[in-house]
This record gives sequence, structure tokens and C-alpha cells, in this order.
Amino acid sequence: MAEELSCTPTLDGLMSYEGAVERLVAAVRRLDDRERVTLRDGLGRVLAEPVVSTIDVPRWDYSAMDGYVLRAADFDGPGSTLAVSQRLPAGVAPQPLAGGTAARIFTGAPIPDGADTVVMQEVCTATADAVRIDTGIVAGDNVRRRGEDIAAGTEIIAAGTRLDPQHLGLAASVGCAELTVWRRPRVAVFASGDELVMPGEPLAPGQIYNSNLFTAGGLLRTLGCEVIELGIVEDTLDATKTALADAATRADLVFASGGVSVGEEDHVKPAIEALGTLDMWKIAIRPGKPVAFGHIDGTPFIGSPGNPVSLFVTFLLFVRPFLLCLQGRDDWRLQPMQVVADFDWPRPDKRREFQRARLTIDTAGIARAAVHPSRSSGVLSSVTWANGLVVIPEGRAMRRGDTVAFLPFCELLR
Ligand code: AMP
Ligand code: MG
Repeated sequence: MAEELSCTPTLDGLMSYEGAVERLVAAVRRLDDRERVTLRDGLGRVLAEPVVSTIDVPRWDYSAMDGYVLRAADFDGPGSTLAVSQRLPAGVAPQPLAGGTAARIFTGAPIPDGADTVVMQEVCTATADAVRIDTGIVAGDNVRRRGEDIAAGTEIIAAGTRLDPQHLGLAASVGCAELTVWRRPRVAVFASGDELVMPGEPLAPGQIYNSNLFTAGGLLRTLGCEVIELGIVEDTLDATKTALADAATRADLVFASGGVSVGEEDHVKPAIEALGTLDMWKIAIRPGKPVAFGHIDGTPFIGSPGNPVSLFVTFLLFVRPFLLCLQGRDDWRLQPMQVVADFDWPRPDKRREFQRARLTIDTAGIARAAVHPSRSSGVLSSVTWANGLVVIPEGRAMRRGDTVAFLPFCELLR
């Protein structure tokens, strides 16, 4: 997989994918505003300061079973009978165990001093105030050890981690009630195009619905951003300049859909050049070859082609790493998995292709990726059909049964 994504040929003046991403990521100026949030509000946020435990977890040795706790040395073999000297439900503080006795104990209760072994109740016979142990025992059985999960002083969640539910649980398990996270990036987003209409409005001839604003807004929110939605911008230089200048004052990143080609109706390039600096990168990938990257008064700008599939793929491949780095995450590199190609690809492109694909697990448990029949970057339904992208290396024909790199959306959309 690494091999698949690490080769960096450039052809016909096109930039390699890696070259472009490295340049983007190198240009990131990380956010440096921190916020304290309650654990509940930490979900999906990125940790700015590590969580360090001040306690051992568990705090003491405790029982993993309902049963009887004793000292293994007091056990004389199957049939041993011991007086029951204490009852220890979870939540009590035990007395030291009297020599030669056992204590009734329940899951989660601390092991009393002097005891070392829990025998599960299923192999015991209780009498009025004693217990007979009907099997052999192993010293230390069914005891969970103090600190076996976490030792006091250990860093349990590293800075830069995106907080999933299990991180919240882990932080809670050491008594941490608040977390220090990075401020959410503010991203201003607009869509250029005179043909665009917002859903809910009627369509006049020649018009289409503005889907990109919703795809982009959803992607941004999924990656933890605050979205400043600037709507639809007319295909004129003035309108584009006004939108960009406004966006740049309010956001950590400006993301625009459409108008980044060099046609008469594409005004993003001249608008940014008038306001700041712009690179137009032609990247050796399909779909989504042109990506615009620039700055307006220090605010970064990324522009994607307007084709809905190009926008989605461009976002995942370029905007996502940028946003993850902005938030101090270091897990932005693509991590494809190797699966079996369930398709033939006899005529590969000179550019690396990121094709919409659907991974299924066959009856033998083998992961197989099928590709969508459409290669058009206008067919947005192919993206909802898919659950990831296959990476078809530049110039390499593929046959059904070959191994292919697959990028699951569930990994990319987080
Ligand atoms: P452009 O990049 O502006 O040349 O647009 C390329 C194609 O994508 C055209 O077919 C546009 O109509 C379409 N398109 C552009 N912007 C959007 C949008 N916001 N939502 C849906 N389709 C769009
Ligand atoms: Mg356009």
C-alpha cells in the first residue's frame, strides 16, 4: 500500500498527489487557541493537551467475579470448607481477611488485605456461615490488579487525538471532567455558478441545484469545523472578489467550489490574484485535476472544481489533510487497505485514479472492491453508492483478482 501511494512521478507538468499534499500541509499555520470543554462536549474535538491520569485504575485489586475470596495458602484442596467472615458487595471498604476464613465477594468489590484469590460461586457450596470449595483453585485467579488498566502518572490520551466516545470514557475513568481542545477551525464556503439554485427554490431552464454547498458543508462539519456559509456567488469578477475578501476576514480557511478553471466564466483565479496570491495546481489524479491554493491577507484559500464528484474527492484528498493539520492532528496521511479488485481496469490513465468503489465481504470473508460503472465526475449518486475509493496506480492495468488499495469513507470522514 505504501508503495502504491509513495511513487511520485510527475508527467506533462502535472504535480504528483504527494507533492501537492506536502506543499499544502507545509503551508498550514496551526490554530493556537485552546478551549476548555466538558467531557460531554469533547466528542469529535481534537485534544490540545494530553490527558494524564492522577490515579491508578483500578484503584485497588478487585474481584472479577461473584464468589468467595480467600488466601490461597488456606486452601487444602477440593472440598475445603472455610468460615465466611465478611460480605463484600461492590462499593464497600473491606476489613482485612481473618486468617483461615473466606469472604463472600461480588464483582467490583475490593480484595481485602490478606486475601489473594477469588473462587467463582458456581464451584462453591454455601452453608449457613461457611463455604465449601468443590474444585481446585489457582492462586490469584479472578483478581483484577491495581493499576492494570492505567498507572498513575501515565499519559492516557495524546495531544492531537480526535476524541471518540471511548476516549471520553477513558478520561472519565480517571476522574477527568474537562478537556483542553483546539478551537474549531472556521471555514467559509461558497459555490460559484450562475446556474446554481438552492434546494427549495424552483428551477428555471438551465439551472441546477447547488449540491456542492451541502456536500462541502457536511464534510467540513464532519471534520470538526465551524462552517460560515456564504451561499452562491455569481460568475463575475466583482462578486467573486467581494465574496473572497469577506470570507478571508472571517475564516481560518476559505473553501470555494467551482470557477477555478481558466474559462471566461471562471473568476476565482483573477479574483485571488487581485486580492492575494494563488497557485493553480494541475495534479496527476482523476477526478479533480485542478486545485487552487492561495492566500488572501494571510488566510489560506482552497478552490475545487465544481463537478460534484471532483469536489468530494478533492476535498478528501487535499482539504481534509489541510484541516486535520490545522487542528493539530497528525493522522492525515491516507492509509489505504489492500483488498481484492472485483473489476477489470484494462485502460489505465496516465494519472492516478481515485475511483468510487464499494467494498463488500464475500462468503469466504474476503474483502472485494467493485467500481461504479460511471467514471463521470458529474454523477454524484456514484458517491453515495460507494463506501470508499480504490486507488488505481498511474498507467497500471488491473484485472479482477488483483490486489488494489482501498480508502474507506469511514476512515476519511473523521
Ligand atoms: P465549474 O467548475 O464551475 O466549471 O463547474 C463544473 C461543473 O460542475 C458544471 O457542470 C457545473 O454546473 C457543476 N457545478 C458547479 N458548481 C456546482 C454546485 N455548487 N453544485 C452542483 N454542481 C455544480
Ligand atoms: Mg462554473
